[in-house]
Amino acid sequence: MLKVEHVTKYYGKNKAVDDLSFTVKEGEIFGLLGVNGAGKTTTFRMINGLLDLSSGSITMDGKPIDYTMTDRLGFLTEERSLLTKLTVKEQVLYYGVLKGMKEETILKRLDEWLDYFQISDYKERKIKELSKGNQQKVQFITAIINEPKLLILDEPFSGLDPINVQMFMDVIRKLKKQKTSIIFSSHRMEHVEMFCEKLVVLLKGKSVLSGELKQIKKEYRKKNIHVVCDAIDVEALKKVKGVLDVIQNENEWIIKIESDENVQDVFDFVKKCKNVTKFAVEDATLNEIFLEKVGESYEN
Ligand code: ATP
Repeated sequence: MLKVEHVTKYYGKNKAVDDLSFTVKEGEIFGLLGVNGAGKTTTFRMINGLLDLSSGSITMDGKPIDYTMTDRLGFLTEERSLLTKLTVKEQVLYYGVLKGMKEETILKRLDEWLDYFQISDYKERKIKELSKGNQQKVQFITAIINEPKLLILDEPFSGLDPINVQMFMDVIRKLKKQKTSIIFSSHRMEHVEMFCEKLVVLLKGKSVLSGELKQIKKEYRKKNIHVVCDAIDVEALKKVKGVLDVIQNENEWIIKIESDENVQDVFDFVKKCKNVTKFAVEDATLNEIFLEKVGESYEN
């Protein structure tokens, strides 16, 4: 289990991470979210033992993380850091050996992953000759070649097409089943919603929202009602108790309400409209919650 306790990091006088605490259990997928400059990469580097903490502690299974633990860690950095003059095989061998693996094991696993990602033909090719997406696959393989206990994925899907995103997601789910702890950051909230059981949202290095995704959604009482019908008198609907906003999309209306308690009143209003074919109450999206929480804190 990873434990981050009251971690603070200064770069000179700039506090990049401010009293951050969270835990990631075995087999858990944890989201570390925040706008640009919030402190995510700094946190990842500290967890990896690449950066000293100013104060606080980071431990894995009770022991402080240092370079002797690299064989149990995997890190996909945001800035892609491949040795582009090497071939795919040389690159993965290089990192595998650094992580204390036997050459034979590295090559066996490499063949399996190249086959999975359908890039076996590139094994002897120089990294610089590969497309960006394929380079990212190689970097991902490098991060997981040692079957890490803790895997850190900084923006793993950026620049990938939907098919490759799906491939990466399938591997992440598989690793979770094998009890790998995974921390990942993404600016795409729908990706976070698909995976993460727990998350923390950082703003200027400080946690502004944390906990289990389900609980966060439950506590955030606002809901969206999706309605399909012929026409709606928007101004009249906005006067119904609890209605915060009414948005028209291409195919449907989205009625934003304060809480579950307002559903009945909205339903009574909508049932008077013509040709109602849909009335669905849904939780707010993580994106909405994120925007509100981060926005609120910006103003404070
Ligand atoms: P992004 O989403 O843009 O990658 P981030 O959440 O990863 O951002 P960090 O890169 O951790 O954020 O940066 C946090 C803060 O620390 C920022 O104010 C940044 O300018 C500062 N910072 C990051 N690295 C350094 C460094 N090496 N020296 C000085 N300041 C730094």
